[in-house]
Formats: sequence, structure tokens, C-alpha cells
Amino acid sequence: MLSVEAAIHLVLSSAKKAAASVSVDISDALGSILSEDIISPINMPPFRQSAMDGYAVHFHEDAVYTIIDEVKAGDSKLPHLHPGEAVRIFTGAVVPDTANSVVRQEDVKRLGNKAHMTMEVKMDANIRPEGEQLRLGEVALRRGTKINTAHIGLIATLGLSRVHIQKEPSIAIVVTGNELKEANTPLQQGEIYESNGTMLEIALNSLHFNKVHKTRVEDDYHLTKEVLEELIAQHDIVLVSGGISVGDYDFVGKALKDLGVEEIFYKVRQKPGKPLFFGRKDETFVFGLPGNPAASLSCFYIYVYPLLHKYLGALQIELARVWLTSLSDFTVKGDRAQFLKARIQEDGVEILGGQSSSMLQTFGDANALIYIPTETTTLKKGDMVQTIILPH
Ligand code: AMP
Ligand code: MG
Repeated sequence: MLSVEAAIHLVLSSAKKAAASVSVDISDALGSILSEDIISPINMPPFRQSAMDGYAVHFHEDAVYTIIDEVKAGDSKLPHLHPGEAVRIFTGAVVPDTANSVVRQEDVKRLGNKAHMTMEVKMDANIRPEGEQLRLGEVALRRGTKINTAHIGLIATLGLSRVHIQKEPSIAIVVTGNELKEANTPLQQGEIYESNGTMLEIALNSLHFNKVHKTRVEDDYHLTKEVLEELIAQHDIVLVSGGISVGDYDFVGKALKDLGVEEIFYKVRQKPGKPLFFGRKDETFVFGLPGNPAASLSCFYIYVYPLLHKYLGALQIELARVWLTSLSDFTVKGDRAQFLKARIQEDGVEILGGQSSSMLQTFGDANALIYIPTETTTLKKGDMVQTIILPH
């Protein structure tokens, strides 16, 4: 059976970057992937800037300076200082060309128009040089950057209000299972409430994928095939929940095959999520995700997340992985690699109870997944473990 590493590799090598990009207002760009380098149109800061409230001085050998003027933030005046002269200055104000240091007001005793320096005046202190952060023409943000709050602030700093981002793919979610019932209706014998469809949709929305279309289909071969055919033709990515196992009523695999969907892989040596399917028809990628909710969500983070980011040309494609000290012992049963719901604590990472692929409660408490490769069979407290950080 295919290893986790090989399966991830196949996902990444199959996904080519989508070309289309759109221009949006920066206030709508959070979480999107930049499709252009942002080149700074200005020097930042645009002028020599005071980093402190205090006195800008033209250095001389004496500790006493004569105050000749004042410059506050936003002023455009540039008083001329001779050696031994100072101007009162405030944070963010232009430092006059003829000043070569800014002395913090805490280090100055003022008497009338005289400033007595109580500390040694250091050349260039507390002055932010023009272009210190960014020079005109320099790359401020690279194409492929996933835009976060600070990036939006930075773009605004440069006086820009629109950016080009990758156009998001159109994604369909197909939920299979005769036993699944909508909320707010009483359960009959044999029924459970549907959760994967809602959860996957929200997982996508929280990653700023909003072009999501959700459908239900019964466990019926012809209906499944009909629905999948239409959705594959209409969407860039199709996520099918359930029906991909080997039961007599699992029709997804057969329907995909008969529709000519190329199987890139089916079944991965992992727990949870063994019956994972990944394929492609023309330009559309199809995932067959396990029906068990916790397995479905695990597979979303490990496989669907990278596909989406590769597709968008993101610089960082997979969720971040870090090595942390395990706070738990664990013995692997069987020969599959494990993704364990875990919680990062101050001194390491703890494996949570309730790892069953049908149980979501533990996933709610988790902020990470511990990855245990097939070579590892026992884990002891104090061992270093590979920890995948989950998005919030
Ligand atoms: P399947 O992969 O279709 O064999 O389903 C495996 C298990 O997951 C069964 O217990 C299903 O009832 C359950 N399941 C499948 N789809 C969903 C869903 N959308 N929401 C909640 N549970 C599901
Ligand atoms: Mg089913």
C-alpha cells in the first residue's frame, strides 16, 4: 500500500498552478495568495524619521545645546541647524538634514531655550534612515505569499489599495450516505446526523475558499455517477465524503472509474484515512475522503490543504511541521503510519484520548496532529515527535 510520503508527493506533483488572477481591494485580500510580486513604489520610511520624542541636534563637543525650533509629525519645514543647535522633535517627524542625532527627551534637562544633555550624544541615534525598511523598487512581498493581517498593513504602508491575487478554485463537496439526516429532524432507527459536509465546507471557508457548492447523493450507483459527472465537469476540485470503502453500498470508486477519472492513488498506509482516493479527470481533481468524520478532517489537512495551496502557487504549501517533545507514551498497533490528535502544551505535545476515526470531540480539543511514520512502533515520553500545526 502507498506510503503517506508517496501519497503527498503524488498530490503535489499532480497539481499544477492555476493561472487566473484577479484584482481585489486589500481589505478583501486576507488569506488569499498573491499572484504578483509587490514592488515598493516608495522609500519606506519616505524621509529621515525621528524614532523618539526628544531633541534633534547638530553635534558639538559641549553638553549644552540651543533650541531654535520645533518639528512635529507631519510638518514639512526643515530648520537649518548649526553645530550646538537643537530642535524639539517628535516621533515620526522629519529629522532636519543638518541634524545628526536625536536625543531622547528622558536624557535631556531643559532650561528655557537650553537643552542639557545628561547622556552622551551618539551619532545617528534614534533616526530611521530613509528607505530603512524598504527602498523604492524593492520587492516588498513575494508572489505566492499567503496574505495575513500584517501583510495588509504593509501594503497599506506603501500607499497601495489593490492587489492581484490567485482566483480561487470552484470546489464541490458531495456527501454520500443513506443514513445521513439533516439537523432538527428526529433520528429514525439507523440514522445519524450529517456532519462532514458542513465541516468540510467550513474548513474551506476558514481558509478563505468561498466558492463552495455542497450536494448530497444517496448510496445508489446511477445517481452517484450522474451527480459526479456533472460536478466534475463544472468544478476545479471535487471532494466526495464517504462511499469510497469496500462495502457493497460504496459506489463512489466504481462511479469515478466508469466516468474515466484517472486514479492517481487509492488507499494509503495510514490511520486514520486508509481508504483515501485521489484522481483527476481533465482539469478537475477529485478526492474520495473517508466517511468517518475525524478521518475525513485529517485527510483534509494532510492532502486537500496542500493541493489547494499548490494549485494557487503558494510559497508554503503544507501545514507547518515542528519537532516537539512528546508528553505521552504511545504504542502503535498494526503497520500503518499514524496521525494522532494532539495538543501543544508549554513543555511539549500531548496525545489526546479518543483517537477513533469516528469521533470528533477529540479533534475539537486538538491544535496539532502528531505524525508517527511506519518505522516507529513505540513512542516514549520525552521522545521528539513530528507535530503538524493545525489552523485555528
Ligand atoms: P463510509 O465511508 O461511507 O463507509 O462511512 C463510514 C462511516 O462514516 C459510517 O459510520 C458513516 O455513517 C459515517 N459517515 C459517512 N458520511 C458521513 C457524514 N457526512 N457525516 C457523518 N458521518 C458520516
Ligand atoms: Mg457510506
